[in-house]
Amino acid sequence: MKERWLRRLTGLVLLCSTALCGCAVNPVTGQSELMLVSEQEERQLGDRTRGAVVEEYGVYDNAALQDYVNGVARPLAQLSHRPALDWQFQVMDSPVVNAFAAPGGYIFVTRGLLAVVNDEAELAGVLAHEIGHVTARHSARKYSQSLLTGLGVQLGASLAGSYGKVLGPLLEVGTGLLFLKYSRDDERQADALAVEYATKGGYDANRMADFFVTLERQQTLEGGGGGALPEWFSTHPSPVDREAAVRTQTAQWRSRLPARNYRINGDAYLARIDGLVYGEDPRQGFREGEWFYLPQYQVQFRIPAQWSFAREGSRVQMTHPQKSGVVLFSVEKGTVDAVAGAFVSSMKAGVQQSGERTVNGMKAREIISVVVDGQQRAKVVSHFVQKGGEVLVFHGLADEAVFPQLSATLGQPAASLAPLVDKARLNRQPQRLLVRPVTRATTLENFLQEQQVDRELWPRVAWMNELQLSDRLSAGQRVKIVK
Ligand SMILES: [Zn+2]
Repeated sequence: MKERWLRRLTGLVLLCSTALCGCAVNPVTGQSELMLVSEQEERQLGDRTRGAVVEEYGVYDNAALQDYVNGVARPLAQLSHRPALDWQFQVMDSPVVNAFAAPGGYIFVTRGLLAVVNDEAELAGVLAHEIGHVTARHSARKYSQSLLTGLGVQLGASLAGSYGKVLGPLLEVGTGLLFLKYSRDDERQADALAVEYATKGGYDANRMADFFVTLERQQTLEGGGGGALPEWFSTHPSPVDREAAVRTQTAQWRSRLPARNYRINGDAYLARIDGLVYGEDPRQGFREGEWFYLPQYQVQFRIPAQWSFAREGSRVQMTHPQKSGVVLFSVEKGTVDAVAGAFVSSMKAGVQQSGERTVNGMKAREIISVVVDGQQRAKVVSHFVQKGGEVLVFHGLADEAVFPQLSATLGQPAASLAPLVDKARLNRQPQRLLVRPVTRATTLENFLQEQQVDRELWPRVAWMNELQLSDRLSAGQRVKIVK
């Protein structure tokens, strides 16, 4: 938390120091535009964002896959409008289907997105689109605007209901960038740049258009997309419009460049994602009934009855049915006293009580404080529990007026914290995406039955393969399944 606070504070200082800097030349358009962030500061913003994203979501631990993504992405970045940037590409350990760019040349793709992509050309299209956001400085511009309009606070509001204003500072500034929406024009420009970069890189950019069709289909899937809206999906221009524009631009770029074969590399791509973790990884925590289990830290805690439950990476938010109170859970590095001290100073929390205690034998500190933001006064009961080199943090908060009625429930998740000893839960394994060859011609539906894929997953597996269940498969074809 301390680092997080430093990052946030330096972000604000940065805004003040650059308020005079005004205009900058856009690398893509060559035109001047209002830019509160210089190139060097853009990089610093990117560094901080990267730290926050990694802390919250974690890096997907697969060096071969990471190398492969670098191998596709770096040549595209090299032929972009900003080849000199120190480009960094990172596969994130998140089941959400998303790709996003942070200022300064950081591009993130989730394993959830890699599971949906079907070939190298599609991946190249996604990466080139995000590269386009960076080269045209959309994310830097967005960042300066969000600092100006206090969007960070609104992001907090979307997570924490009416407590957003107070909670805003508790929620990560950096990862807020994940949910920033670009304007329609920015998206069109990033698409156009993606077609240019992918085509110059020798990829079939029409596969990017096909990917829009896949995204469009996601809406019709039962149970929705399974998580936060992908950046690719949540933006204004409808995928149908984007698809048509991308096909037109692909033809235009090809006519300008010497004739060549544009590659798709389907089997090569599928070989790389064979065995990819699929869906939520239970090793990072899972809910069952009223309990949340964290095998990674060998603990479990109870979710208040009837309260809603939401997760974003390692953060958990439990919300009162009438949104009268909220409990936030997170894991921070450090010691109880350091993490608690950072909370008090950064939130300017007015401490009313502070005491050492133990929770199920673990060293802990409990603090009751008041946090004020404008007209709002929230009372917070915080528990900081030492678990190895980490601190498990619970903040239960409610409006000061209703706090007395809710305080017992707000403290309940922390009070229920207990060691997780059940072996089956400790060792629960994630589902994996497997790439299987078709041995004889059949339908996808029959194939999934033969492969004993859980029937509930069929619509989603079909979607991930860009197929319908009734589609015919030919011998030798490779199909992604989930086991
Ligand atoms: Zn975009």
